[in-house]
Amino acid sequence: MYIPSYISLHKSGKLKMLAESLWQHMEKCDLCPRNCGANRLIGEKGTCGADTSLRIASFGPHFGEERELVGKGIGEFS
Ligand code: SF4
Repeated sequence: MYIPSYISLHKSGKLKMLAESLWQHMEKCDLCPRNCGANRLIGEKGTCGADTSLRIASFGPHFGEERELVGKGIGEFS
């Protein structure tokens, strides 16, 4: 049975490690090509205006992509 790579990453704990690595990048932010170096972890705003808070534009199940991207549904995370 094929298991999408994000499921394997989640179950192995590597997805969490990658997320923590991204947070570390916000201490001297280089998350985009502007590389402005803002310390977003203490509330500084970067050139883009972003600070520590994350804004999510939208979320929801979306199964309109290839099976390799969406798996079989939400139940695979539980
Ligand atoms: S512009 Fe924003 S995303 Fe880009 S490096 Fe600066 S704070 Fe990070």
